[in-house]
Amino acid sequence: CGITACIGADNSVDSLVDGLQRLEYRGYDSAGIAVKNGSGISLTKRVGEVSELVAAVEQNPIAGDYGIGHTRWATHGGVTDGNAHPHTDESGGIAVVHNGIISNFQSLRSDLEARGHVFSSETDTEVIPHLIEENLRDGATPEEAFRAAVGSLSGSYAIAAIIGDEEAIFATRSGSPLVLGVGDGEYYLASDVPAFIQHTARVVYLHDGDFVVTRSGGYEITDSAGRAVDRPVEHVEWDP
Ligand code: GLU
Repeated sequence: CGITACIGADNSVDSLVDGLQRLEYRGYDSAGIAVKNGSGISLTKRVGEVSELVAAVEQNPIAGDYGIGHTRWATHGGVTDGNAHPHTDESGGIAVVHNGIISNFQSLRSDLEARGHVFSSETDTEVIPHLIEENLRDGATPEEAFRAAVGSLSGSYAIAAIIGDEEAIFATRSGSPLVLGVGDGEYYLASDVPAFIQHTARVVYLHDGDFVVTRSGGYEITDSAGRAVDRPVEHVEWDP
C-alpha cells in the first residue's frame, strides 16, 4: 500500500499515478487519485491495478494543480471501488488518503453519524474527512481542522489531505511511513522515496507525530503541539 502527493509539479495526475506505479512493490488491491482544480476536487478510484486507474483516467481525463494518490491494502471494508481511497466528506470539498488502521473508528463513526454525517464507505479511513469537515464548520482553519481531526485518532497512520480552497497538502504520520521530497517549487509526499526520485533526490524523513503543510512556495513541519521542528534535507542516492 502507498501514498503519493504532489504540489507545484508540472502535471499532477502523471506525477501521482507514476508515483503509485513505483510503489506497486508494496502490494495493494485498489488505487485512486484526487486532484484540485478551479471547479473543485476531481477523483478517480478503481479496484485492481494502477494500470486500470490509468485506463479510467485516460477515458475520463481529470486535471488539477495539486493532489493526492493511494494504493490500498484493505483492512476495514471489502475490496470495492467505493472503499478505495481517496475518501471525501459529503460536500466533496475534502479528500483524504490513509495507510494504516484507525483503531477507534467505530466509536468516532457512531458519534459522527449521531451528529448527522452520512458515510459512503465501510472503511476506518472515512471518519477523517468527516471529522475535518466538522472542525471547519466550527470555524477552524484547514490546518487547525486537520490537526484536530488527527488528534482524535488512535492507531497507526500516514495521512495526506486536500482541504477546501487552500492551496496546500496537509499530511502527518504515526506508525506508518511518510517522506517529503523537496524539488524546485515542487514538493512531493510519499510512503517511500522511489515514488518521486525521478523528480528530486532531496528528501526529508518525517518522524512519528510530525505534521507537514506543503504549498507550492515551500513547506512547514511542526509537532503535534504546533511547534516548528527542524528536519534535515538529505540527498539520497537512488537508481531511478
Ligand atoms: N485501513 C484503510 C482501509 O482499509 C487503509 C488500508 C491501507 O493501508 O491501504 O481502507
